[in-house]
Amino acid sequence: MITRLLPTLLLLTFLCTCVRAQSKLKAEVRAGVAAQYEQLTDLSDRIWSYEEIAFQEAQSAEALKAYARANGFRIEENIGEIPTAFTAEFGSGKPVIGILGEFDALPGLSQETVPRKQPRNEGGAGHGCGHNLFGTASLGAATAIKEMIEAGKLKGTIRFYGTPAEEKYFGKLWMVRAGAFDDVDVVMDWHPSAQTKVGVQTGLALVDFVVEFRGQAAHAASDPWNGRDASDALELYAAGINYYREHVKPSVRIHYDIQQAGEVVNVVPDYSRIWTRVRDGNNEGVQVVYKQIQRIAEGAAMMANVDYELTLISGIHEVLVNRTGAEVLQRNLEAMGPISYTEEEQAFARQIQAAVNKPEIGIESKIEPLEETLSVAAGGSTDVGDVSYVVPVIRLRATTAPSGTPWHSWAVVACGGMSIGHKGMRYSAEAMAMTMIDLFTDAKLRESIKAEFKEDIGDYEYKPMVPAGPPPVDSKF
Ligand SMILES: [Zn+2]
Repeated sequence: MITRLLPTLLLLTFLCTCVRAQSKLKAEVRAGVAAQYEQLTDLSDRIWSYEEIAFQEAQSAEALKAYARANGFRIEENIGEIPTAFTAEFGSGKPVIGILGEFDALPGLSQETVPRKQPRNEGGAGHGCGHNLFGTASLGAATAIKEMIEAGKLKGTIRFYGTPAEEKYFGKLWMVRAGAFDDVDVVMDWHPSAQTKVGVQTGLALVDFVVEFRGQAAHAASDPWNGRDASDALELYAAGINYYREHVKPSVRIHYDIQQAGEVVNVVPDYSRIWTRVRDGNNEGVQVVYKQIQRIAEGAAMMANVDYELTLISGIHEVLVNRTGAEVLQRNLEAMGPISYTEEEQAFARQIQAAVNKPEIGIESKIEPLEETLSVAAGGSTDVGDVSYVVPVIRLRATTAPSGTPWHSWAVVACGGMSIGHKGMRYSAEAMAMTMIDLFTDAKLRESIKAEFKEDIGDYEYKPMVPAGPPPVDSKF
């Protein structure tokens, strides 16, 4: 009997030892993040104060690179021909674990770290999506892992991706096109949020394009018959889209931003411009709508007797969710427990909630249970989707603002520049670092994550949806 049980007993002992070794490494890596807390807070606050928007994040990228360099990472710049895109790498060989870091701000959201709307620079940009925390936390996690590779406790390569322009243009597309993710085994990602949970929803795919109409200027009263009105075409185009809305699937979203439509009332406008965005649950659905709207643009130009030009900016895929990876992250969140807040922080949160007319319930600190991945997609979109089409991605959302806070608003900027944001940043760094310990030490886990990814992709031939040529770093739109 004993001899028959022996292999099982040996296996159990071996597994126990592995789990114990792993939890020791996890405790160490968390301590490695904690040790950087002051420096990370300083780095995040600097990026918060630079408030640089898409493709203009020169100082923010520099600050992250300087931190990585000081910690011994090898830097590769200008990834995908984007001056602010870079990677910071440490170690060698397999596995290669990647971690994403965004750092762009949003126009018009400048804000002080106070719980009421108070711009820091009138009309300036602000970190209304918390990307100052995003890039910093990911680099902090990468640095903690790097220390363990350096100490010989982990084997392989850690690579931080500095990914610009998530808020406009979607910089990751050109990084993917350049093959920057081709040799990676698994990628970690997180995002600031009003909740703490594992990200298991797909979000929406989208396409962005600009239509320009060109006509002939004339005096609006004395010789309007000599004019060909570009704004007429724009109005017809928008009307066409709005009639078409009735006949698209319920999952489709169409938004537009009229960027130019005449300058003065007594001139027939010879130029107009409109940015259009189409979203749906997946790229395939987006293509159907995109095709029909191209016909609407052509028809509108014909009716107004003007010329038109349609320029594709970029298109992003929905996120491929990796449930195997998500479960590992969930276990780590549960092992960590929720973020705790001081009474001062809760008071700050309640003041924000009062200012945005939401129940004054303070900050949610519980860890949400692992959700089902919904088959009907909803929510926003992210260029992480395109990364998830070339490599499995594990995604976290961590609390950096109170519940009810409108996202992309002054309230998120305020929290991202003070301790509520800092705590979410540290929490994310620790959770991702712990999950990377699982990824580095468990080859079987990596294999099952990859197997799920392969099954999801099937025979789909992924291609980033970007126009040929360089990225729109100097875009006129
Ligand atoms: Zn964001």
